Formats: sequence, structure tokens, C-alpha cells
Amino acid sequence: MPANPAHAFDLIVIGAGSAGLAAARRSAQLGARTLLIDRAQVGGTCVNRGCVPKKLLGYGAAWSQTMVRCLRAAHAADAWADAIARTRAEVARLHEAHFAHQAEAGVQWLSGAASLRGRGIVRLQTDTGKTTLRARQIVLAAGARPTPLPTPGADLACTSDDVFGWDTLPASLIIAGGGVIAVEMASTLARFGVRVTVLTRDARVLPEFDATVAEAAAQSLAGCGVELIPNADVVRVERDAVNGGGVAVYASIDGSDVPRALRAQRVLSAIGRTPNIAGLGLDAAGVTLDTHGRIAVDRHFRTRARGVHAVGDICGASRLQLTPVAAAQGRYVAERLFGKGTRLPDMDTVPMAVFCDPAIASVGLTEAEARTRWPELGKRGPDTDKRALADRIDVVVRRFVSLEQRFAGSGMESLIKLVCNARSGRVLGAHIVDNAAPEIIPALAVAVRMGVRLKHLHTTVGLHPTVAEELLSM
Ligand SMILES: Cc1cc2nc3c(=O)[nH]c(=O)nc-3n(C[C@H](O)[C@H](O)[C@H](O)COP(=O)(O)OP(=O)(O)OC[C@H]3O[C@@H](n4cnc5c(N)ncnc54)[C@H](O)[C@@H]3O)c2cc1C
Repeated sequence: MPANPAHAFDLIVIGAGSAGLAAARRSAQLGARTLLIDRAQVGGTCVNRGCVPKKLLGYGAAWSQTMVRCLRAAHAADAWADAIARTRAEVARLHEAHFAHQAEAGVQWLSGAASLRGRGIVRLQTDTGKTTLRARQIVLAAGARPTPLPTPGADLACTSDDVFGWDTLPASLIIAGGGVIAVEMASTLARFGVRVTVLTRDARVLPEFDATVAEAAAQSLAGCGVELIPNADVVRVERDAVNGGGVAVYASIDGSDVPRALRAQRVLSAIGRTPNIAGLGLDAAGVTLDTHGRIAVDRHFRTRARGVHAVGDICGASRLQLTPVAAAQGRYVAERLFGKGTRLPDMDTVPMAVFCDPAIASVGLTEAEARTRWPELGKRGPDTDKRALADRIDVVVRRFVSLEQRFAGSGMESLIKLVCNARSGRVLGAHIVDNAAPEIIPALAVAVRMGVRLKHLHTTVGLHPTVAEELLSM
């Protein structure tokens, strides 16, 4: 994109990730003189260190496994080199595509680290010096980064960001964390042949997902050879003198005072994400943080500073750190500032996925949430017995082995779990474990939002032979 360092804009967007790209493009389409700044590659986490490369590597892992298991290929030793090369080629193509889309909309682009310097003033720091820029409106879309381990030796740990830069794989890896990123990394890398151990603080992986699908994830990880150690708190990381070049991770397990030493070639921290607020000059501009250390915003993504908005992973409104959520917020702000305004999509019924093998996708309430929230959902009277109401949540689970897994000879079970209002049959939550799940759930999200009931599923003819048809015969 041609750089145009003219200094006054209607809008400056700091950060060219999912939120920033959406905000900048839509604003420019609406006629605003827009500047987009990023200190790194266009596309942010999603394109460079998140959704896209991890999903591509997941394909690589699945294909290499299928080749070895089903098609009797001799070995998959070169699978990683091939998969990472293909992944990088696609990421490079996306860089070009994003630049082209932004340029087409009229967005101007500058590379460098940006910070606020008072009302409507942005300081851009590049290799060649500093520039002061002005804008009527500023959107902060600087995203988040992996949270380092809060223990001695934290600097010995790598993060999900580093994985996409690996040319070769370690023979063994310890992952600290049990959330989506930890599970996806464990599943993908184990299928590429890495010996993976997952240390999770909670009693189970994927604490934010329904317990039944989390249990299925644990089983499928075990099926890939991943060792899962629950209730494990990393207390320190050291270089491993025994295993030259490797690491020793000391973890307190089940609250034990005597930490257990686990050894591997590398350790990866996947314990959460921290907003990129350092160096943004928030104090100078009067931008404040919420109790989680993210930028505090109101329902229109306005910060406490006039003319400054925050969208995406950096802002407190993002309960779910997902690309479509960030992009929707960016577009919403653009429409509000330069268009006729718009409505934010429904953020209560957002589909979520874990791209492990088999994949997991969910929408709506988990069983535990439905049982806790039932009084509110069922509009109970003041003296209704809570327990009796909780019993009125109906849970339907169907387990089956898909044709895909039969072909693979794995016998791996898929499952569909629907959480329903027992009285009306209304589906409150849907949770699917199968590689087709992420393709099925978004359509089901529409149905759940529109109040779909079990009887609607029963009276719809399915498509055969698919995983989705199982849903219609629950
Ligand atoms: C491993 C992984 C897998 C994921 N998988 C999925 C998935 O499958 N589906 C999904 O929906 N979401 C997924 N996510 C989450 C998703 O990537 C994020 O929610 C999304 O990218 C957030 O977008 P954003 O625009 O808020 O921030 P980012 O995409 O992080 O963009 C922020 C940008 O700001 C730039 N920046 C920061 N500070 C400055 C500064 N001072 N000056 C200039 N530029 C600056 C950064 O360089 C970066 O490019 C995943 C995340 C990770 C880490």
C-alpha cells in the first residue's frame, strides 16, 4: 500500500488485526480519511499467529496422520516442513489480499509503533524517527499477546506465537495451560509426532466449554498420545542439565508441596492473553483500564478519553477473544462514527470452536450454565423450588462413529449434545464433537437465536450421509 505521510486524518486506527482492519476499511468506504498503523505484519494475530496458520497446520497434521494411518505412506517425517511452508505461503497471500482490500477502500498505511500523545495526537515511531499525526477520531485495536508464566524461568518458555516460526519440531514439549490454545497446540503438534504433556491448573481442560465435550477433548488428546496432568501448577522452569538444551518444568500437582520435575525439549506457555497496552500512552490521553487490565469502554466502545475508541482483544467489552467478535466491533465503530450507525450482532449466541481432532464446536449455554441460569430462563415464581426447576433442563446426547473415523479405522466417537428447556423443547445450547462441527454450528447458531425447538429438528429432513443428519434425529 503506498505510504502517504500527510499528517491530518479523520481517523487513525492503531493495529491492523481483525478489529483494526474492519474499522479502517469500513471507515474509508464511508468516506473518512483513514490511516491504519501497525508495528508488525498486516492481519494481526488471526492471520500471522492465530486462527489461520493454526488451522492450516491442523490440516497438515490431519493429512499426515491419514497418510500414515490409512493410506499406508511409509512415513510422515517431512510433514511439518511441508505444512509450515504451505502455511507461510497462505499467510503471505493473505498479507497481499488485506493490503489490496484496504488500498481499494482508500485506507492509507504506515508501519511503526504508535502511541497517544494527548487529544487527537498520535506519535509514530519508526526505524527512521518519530512523526506526529493528528486525527479527529482514534481507534485503539492493538490486540493482545500471550501471557508469560508468572514463575521463575518464565523466559525459557515459548508461546503459540513462536510455533509458527519453527522450521523443525522439538521431540518433546510441555504445554502449561488447558484452554483452547493449549488444546489446539497439543492436538496439532502431537499429530506431527511431538511427545506432548499438558499441565492444566484446573481439574479439566477447556473449562469454558460444556463438561461433556471437554471430557471428549481429553480422551481424544490421550488418543493422540498426549499426557494430560490436571490440577498442576507450574512453580518454576529451569534449563535441564541432564537433558542438554532441554527444560525442566517443576509443577505442584494436586496441591503437593513437593513439586514434580517434568523434562522436555521445550515448554510452551498457553495460560492466557494480556492486552497490548504497554507504550500506547494511555495515561497521556486519559484512557482508563477495567479490573482485568483491558481498556474500559462503554457499549459504543468509547473509552474515557474523548474521540478515542477501543475494539477487539484490547478492550474490556470482548468477553470472547475471537476474530469475528473483534471485526464486528471494528465495523460497528466505523458505522457509528462515519455512517448512519448500525446494530452490533448478538454477542450472547456466538459460536466457538476448538480445532483439535476431532474438532469441537459449541453455541449457547453449557449444561452447567443452563442449570444455574434456569430460574431466569424459566421466569420462575418467587417460591418455586430451584432444584425442581433445574430438573426441567433436558439434555440429549447422541454418540456415534462418523464415516470419516470409520475410514480412518480410529473408532473415535463423535457426539452431539443439546441442552434444552424440557417444557418447551427450546434448544438453549448445542455442543458437537466431530471434525464437521465447526461447519455445522454457525447455522445452528442462527436456529438457536431464532428459538429452534427439538420438534423442529425432528421434522426437518436431513442430508445423507453427513454428520449433520445425526442432529435431526436426536
Ligand atoms: C493461537 C491462536 C489461535 C486463535 N484461533 C482463533 C480461531 O480459530 N478463531 C477465532 O475467531 N479467533 C481465534 N484466535 C483469536 C483471534 O486471533 C483474536 O481474537 C483476534 O485476532 C483479535 O484481533 P484484534 O484486532 O483485537 O488484535 P490483533 O489481531 O492481535 O491485532 C493487533 C495488532 O496491533 C498491532 N499493534 C499492537 N500495538 C501496537 C502499537 N503500539 N502500534 C502499532 N501497532 C500495534 C499488532 O502488531 C497487531 O498487528 C486465536 C488466537 C490465537 C493466539
